[in-house]
Amino acid sequence: MEPGHRPAAPQSSPKKSPKLPPMRNPRAIILVAVGSAILVAAIVLASINLAGRSQSAAVRQTNISQVLSLVDQHKVRSAVLDGNQITVTANDGTQYSATKEDGQQLTQYLRDHGVANIKVPPQSAGTPGWAQLTMELALFGVLGVLIFLLMRRNSSGGAGQAVPFGRSKAVRFNETHPTVMFKDVAGVEEAKDELQEIVHFLKYPEKFRKMGARIPKGVLLVGPPGTGKTLISRAVAGEAGVAFYSVSGSEFVEMFVGVGASRVRDLFKMAKENAPCIIFIDEIDAVGRQRGGMPTTGNDEREQTLNQLLVEMDGFDKHDNVVVIGATNRPDVLDQALLRPGRFDRQVMLEKPDLNGRIQILDVHAEGKPLAPTVSMDRLARQTTGMSGADLANVLNEAALLAARRDRELIEQHDLEESILRVMAGPERKSHVLTEAEKAIVAYHEMGHAIVMRRMPGCDQVQKVSTVSRGMALGITVQAPTEDRSLLRKSELLAKLAGLMGGRAAEEIIFGDITTGAAQDIKQATSIARRMVREFGMSPLGNVLMEDDSIGPQLAAKVDTEVQYLVDQAYATAKDILERDRDKLVEISEHLMQVETIDGGELDRLLFRETTLRVLHTAEEEDTEDERVTLEEVGSLA
Ligand code: ADP
Repeated sequence: MEPGHRPAAPQSSPKKSPKLPPMRNPRAIILVAVGSAILVAAIVLASINLAGRSQSAAVRQTNISQVLSLVDQHKVRSAVLDGNQITVTANDGTQYSATKEDGQQLTQYLRDHGVANIKVPPQSAGTPGWAQLTMELALFGVLGVLIFLLMRRNSSGGAGQAVPFGRSKAVRFNETHPTVMFKDVAGVEEAKDELQEIVHFLKYPEKFRKMGARIPKGVLLVGPPGTGKTLISRAVAGEAGVAFYSVSGSEFVEMFVGVGASRVRDLFKMAKENAPCIIFIDEIDAVGRQRGGMPTTGNDEREQTLNQLLVEMDGFDKHDNVVVIGATNRPDVLDQALLRPGRFDRQVMLEKPDLNGRIQILDVHAEGKPLAPTVSMDRLARQTTGMSGADLANVLNEAALLAARRDRELIEQHDLEESILRVMAGPERKSHVLTEAEKAIVAYHEMGHAIVMRRMPGCDQVQKVSTVSRGMALGITVQAPTEDRSLLRKSELLAKLAGLMGGRAAEEIIFGDITTGAAQDIKQATSIARRMVREFGMSPLGNVLMEDDSIGPQLAAKVDTEVQYLVDQAYATAKDILERDRDKLVEISEHLMQVETIDGGELDRLLFRETTLRVLHTAEEEDTEDERVTLEEVGSLA
């Protein structure tokens, strides 16, 4: 019964604070530096080039015969042959330049006349000077435009960047004055009590300082998703009247080493400037995992980010009124350094709500929604065992949507019950078309579960049986305890196993064949049976923890045998129950096929009623020797 959806946006829409300074980013700095270097180099190169050309302007232009006669007279010290251009330096230092005729072989001639120093620059063969200059300028121009574009894109921090650098996306939202209060967070009284101290500290820091008390810097909220960790943190800020900055740990972990660390630095700097405030780091395990392991770049980055986080937390002095609240579902994977005194040294647990908690949460979220007077919160709370606060908020929201879609003035109980199913198993899939035969199999399968669940001693109530496809399931049977349980007896686990096997058992009894529909049941049953044997000491193998890596192959084989035995026994029990209840199975399944969904009360009325309505064979009572219907005949069942 894991939450399928997360609820809609929080009550108050977060405002962007104008005070936020843009986050510095090392990549941006490097880019600017490299860009500037290229520009400077370009300018220097261009000026050298131009200087070279202006120098060549000082060379005396003459004709080739003049140059050759100088050579003849041995007055030439050196020569440069650049394509058709020949430039010679006379013994007195004067330079003469001329254009030779095509095909004129000058090199040998010069050599024969004692010009020892002859240079032939290879690359500039044939390119006129002005063309080369234009090309160089064009190249630099293109480079310049590229750099300009890159920098502009970078500073705008817009979407669609190949590499998202530039301003940090770390601050997801921040509120200068959060409006959420403790009264908006229901059913978590202990957590509120513990956080009350933080509220006091943020409100009256002087009182604590005068007493010389060490002020808490970090609080770790531990609990499954949707239990209100973000909500209660916002409420702490709301109660204390301080700003609230929220980031997600995963946003710190970037592709490039050093980026996350710089984001952490910027975040804390910003927080200190806007103190008093709260920094909320969701999914802190994304950064705070234990260090060490494979030396990959990803790890380097995470380690640097984590180190920076530790440095920043240690760097708070007692006048910084900043409290960091981290949220996680996996405190066990966190680096021990994070949990040391002076860092996240307080842990506050947020559990899934109990019955009372659920009633209170439902009440909070029912505010402003027109509920019909017949709606019973108590009944809803009993049907939502195991749901988180977020799921409950979602149930009420879905019900309001349903009622609106059906053009009703008030939200009715059945809107709410329908939305519970939606939240548990996903919305109905009306488009999922089953054949008549499949519909019958689904009905009998679900009813098999329901009857076995109801017949096992000490079993929980069945809340709903439905043949409507939802999410991945073709049909569902919802069984939920009417009260919250912390301990489960072995007999209850055995009953659960039998209930899970009831679907397949019904298929086999009625159709003489089995389907793939039991895959999920088998998976769940096997997992329960394994835990019974390996963790709970509920098998003849004894009360020893049997983890995969701690047991030898012989014991492992015995574990498998015991697991198999438990599941086999459960199947036998289910079959036994359904064979005895065969008439009821047929009767109620046929009814279910007609109505698609029945609730627990109706199931009990039909199941525990004395007289049985025979649907299939009222006339031929004696003709009971073969009621087994094969898969092919299913179509005629109804
Ligand atoms: P988490 O951070 O633990 O994943 P959130 O604080 O984001 O959970 O909870 C999501 C939503 O669920 C909240 O905005 C609120 O509407 C609802 N919710 C969760 N817990 C509670 C609660 N204890 N009381 C009231 N509403 C709650």
